[in-house]
Amino acid sequence: MTQPINLASERLWRAIPDTRRKVILQSVWCSQCRGSTTIIDYAVLANGVDILLDGKCHTCGAQVRRVLD
Ligand SMILES: [Zn+2]
Repeated sequence: MTQPINLASERLWRAIPDTRRKVILQSVWCSQCRGSTTIIDYAVLANGVDILLDGKCHTCGAQVRRVLD
């Protein structure tokens, strides 16, 4: 189960350097485009174990999600 944005996940996300965050945002897999895309309109979610970015594909608008390493 994922939960709404919480402070802990937000803080972890913001602790990542800008350059690294940019790379992450620009390397999200889109199953519709069958390739790497840029995520837009994203939210930072946490499921207790992982931090996830949940948003839309910049190219086609499909929902995309990325788990942070
Ligand atoms: Zn796409």
